[in-house]
Amino acid sequence: MHSFGILFLAALALATAVRLWLAWRHAAHVAAHRGSVPTAFASEIDLAQHQKAADYSVAKTRFAMVDTAVGAAIALALTFGGGLQLLHEISALWLGEGIARGLALIALLGLLLTLIDLPFDAWRTFVIEQRFGFNKTTPGLFLADAVKGLAVGALLLLPLVAMILWLIRVIGDVWWMYAWAVSVAYLLFVQFIGPTVIAPLFNKFSPMQNAEIKDRVEKLLARCGFRVKGLMVMDGSRRSAHGNAYFTGFGKSKRIVFFDTLLSQLNPAEVEAVLAHELGHFKLKHIFKRMAWTAAISFGFFWLLGYLMRHEWFYSSLGVQSPSPAMALVLFLFVIPPFTFVLQPLGAMYSRKHEFEADEYAAQNASARDLVSALIKLYRDNASTLTPDPLHSAVYDSHPPALARIARLQKA
Ligand SMILES: [Zn+2]
Repeated sequence: MHSFGILFLAALALATAVRLWLAWRHAAHVAAHRGSVPTAFASEIDLAQHQKAADYSVAKTRFAMVDTAVGAAIALALTFGGGLQLLHEISALWLGEGIARGLALIALLGLLLTLIDLPFDAWRTFVIEQRFGFNKTTPGLFLADAVKGLAVGALLLLPLVAMILWLIRVIGDVWWMYAWAVSVAYLLFVQFIGPTVIAPLFNKFSPMQNAEIKDRVEKLLARCGFRVKGLMVMDGSRRSAHGNAYFTGFGKSKRIVFFDTLLSQLNPAEVEAVLAHELGHFKLKHIFKRMAWTAAISFGFFWLLGYLMRHEWFYSSLGVQSPSPAMALVLFLFVIPPFTFVLQPLGAMYSRKHEFEADEYAAQNASARDLVSALIKLYRDNASTLTPDPLHSAVYDSHPPALARIARLQKA
């Protein structure tokens, strides 16, 4: 076996073992703290609610462990097990060497992965979410979503892949720089059309009707010097009882979206505080910084792909006998994640820093007290655990633990 194959195997084994160990720790930690509500929350969250959150977290974490193990098995089956080679041979039955065959390979793989993922997704929705009372999706809507998701994914992704394969063909060694620039531009384009073209395929958006919230939000926006095209309510309750609010698009497509579920959980002052937090992300350029980081890191990835693609050992060491640019793209997708797992805690830490900053912004421009009461309601109604394992949280959590977040806001 070529040493690159061994290196990948070692990274995959290590990353998988660490993921499983962290999940196991987290489930054990949550279970160990199931017996009592942390004192800071004792007046707002009762024991039954706390225990529901613990059981929900443990169920989700156990399922994530299965997901991790299956993911590793799929990576092995597709590489060393000959899965990708087989997909290549299927696509080569109909198509000669060229861009169309590359696209067929990628489409086949996408379809296969979607089909494998479907039962897992169904279990998550109809068993776990159902058991804890969060699922609102019907099997019909679930299937319609899956079909639509696949179609939209193909429609968005295949043109970009075709463009990249074409650049590889016509430009030569520095194709990756062009491909990187095209990909970044394309991603921006997708973000621009996302709120107005893609999201309405899955949900209904209607203008905010609640006069008190509208009034508060308009005053908040004026105070923060912010202009926005639309203040929308999304019918999140069609699928799930979990609530959320987000900021989306840019330029002319910029809008604020509230889940109808969130509006039924919070009072107008709390909605305002949550929105002030989201505005903070925008005003403090968190969204822009994140995109800039993504662009910078992907520049490195494109370079690395360009380097690996030229070497026969990249294919042969991973169980593939038929090198092609499309195959290199696909292999890269499976080979990189175990190595980049070490970056996960850094990304999560960066995100938590932004969450604290956005909370501070909300405390200055709305009310810290309202944000605290909104957060407590959201933790309670979403059955989010108040007692995560600290190490698990440090590696994965994009948001700081509830206790740390609320303690800071109470000082603000
Ligand atoms: Zn946030």
